[in-house]
Formats: sequence, structure tokens, C-alpha cells
Amino acid sequence: MAKEVKKDPSELSVEEKLKALYQLQTMLSEIDKIKTLRGELPLEVQDLEDEVTGLSTRIEKIKGEIEELKSNVATKRIEIETAKASIDKYKAQQDNVRNNREYDVLTKEIEFQTLEVELCEKRIREYTSSIESKQEEIEKNTHTLEERKKDLEMKKNELDEIISETKQEEEKLRDKAKALEATIEPRLLQAFKRIRKNSRNGLGITYVQRDACGGCFNKIPPQKQLDIRMRKKIIVCEYCGRIMIDPELAGVMPERHLETKVK
Ligand SMILES: [Zn+2]
Repeated sequence: MAKEVKKDPSELSVEEKLKALYQLQTMLSEIDKIKTLRGELPLEVQDLEDEVTGLSTRIEKIKGEIEELKSNVATKRIEIETAKASIDKYKAQQDNVRNNREYDVLTKEIEFQTLEVELCEKRIREYTSSIESKQEEIEKNTHTLEERKKDLEMKKNELDEIISETKQEEEKLRDKAKALEATIEPRLLQAFKRIRKNSRNGLGITYVQRDACGGCFNKIPPQKQLDIRMRKKIIVCEYCGRIMIDPELAGVMPERHLETKVK
């Protein structure tokens, strides 16, 4: 019963070998696709994480600036108190002056301290308005931060899901590919893998499309096309080295008939 299954790889017909190779390539391409899919999401998650960190740092920085402005306001309030105390003191002294000159000196001091108070009040107004605009900035940034955090949560879940989903799929494909590889003779498998590795689109085996190689699109001479359709020999494209099969073997409808009908 197991006779058919345990066939030695070298006993396979060329047609069977080519079919196995094409199936293997389909699986390997699927695995590549999964990797690509996963390859973009981690990057998006990383970007969002960076943005969240950046926004948090920025909010903390503004909070620090507000604290500094508040302490400046407190300092100015103390300066106002000091100046007002001086004014009171000078006014009391004016009641006990011995001459006009002393009185005038005190008047000048009072004027100076009054200006000091006004200057401090002006600074307090400036600091306060600066605090207000910084608080608005914090609000705006906090809003953005909350949105980004939500995005991040979503993308992270998406990534976790894809990873857990594709992990199973990828493992299944890898197991299948491994089983299939065991049925292909090592020399042919090595050659196929080498061609695949060197090709930019990951195709080591391809089928004839519009009389041309499906990998490099160079025309294939009619005699060679005939040999490919016979499925008796392993034939490679003379330009790119890819193993060639006919569309039917790849499970694809040949386009030639369609084309000639249209013309
Ligand atoms: Zn080619």
C-alpha cells in the first residue's frame, strides 16, 4: 500500500519532478509573502511607540516650564510685597522729616518703588499668559497622545494577531515544503534553490508566457517550447537559467490561444 508513497526521488518522472518543484515554489512564495506582511507592521508599531514617547517627553517638558513660570510669579509677588513695605516705611518717614530735601528724597524713593511694583505686575501678567498658552499646548498634545495610544494599541493587537495567525500558517507551509523537498532529488533541489536565491522575484521555476520565459521575458525558440511541452527533459531558460515548464503543468491556461482568438 505504501509502495506509491515511498517512491525514490530518482524514480520520479521528469513531469512529476517539475510539478513538485513548481508546488514547492508556490509554498516558498507564500512564506515570503507572510514575511513581507509582518515586515511592515512592526515598523508601524515602532513609529507609533516613538511618537508616543516623543509626545510624553514634550508634555513633561512643558509641565516643567509651567512650574518655572509659576515660581517666577511667586518671586515677583514677594518683590511686590517688599516694595510695598518699603513704600509704607518711606511714607512713615515722610511724617518725621526735618527739611524739604529729605522729603523729596523719600518721594523719589516712593516713586521708584511704585514703578517697581508696576513692573512686577506687568511681568506677572506676562508669565500668567504664557502659563495659559502652555496649558493649552499641553491639552492639545495630551489629546494627540491619547489618539496615538489608541492607534498603537490597535496596531499592536493587529500585529499580535498576524503573528499568531501567520505563525501557524508559516509552520504548516514549512512542514509541507519540507515534506515536498524530500521527494525531490537533492541535485535538482540544490539547483532550483540556487536559481531562486539569485533571482529578484524569487522564481526558480517559471512557465512559458507569450512564447517567452516568465522570469526574464526573453523569447524561447519554437523547438525549445516543444521540448518543454513534452515534459521529458528538464529545460532551463538560456538567458536567466530558470527551469521552464508549460502553462498547463503550472495549472495556468495558456494565453496563446486566447491571444490568437482576439486577433
Ligand atoms: Zn529566462
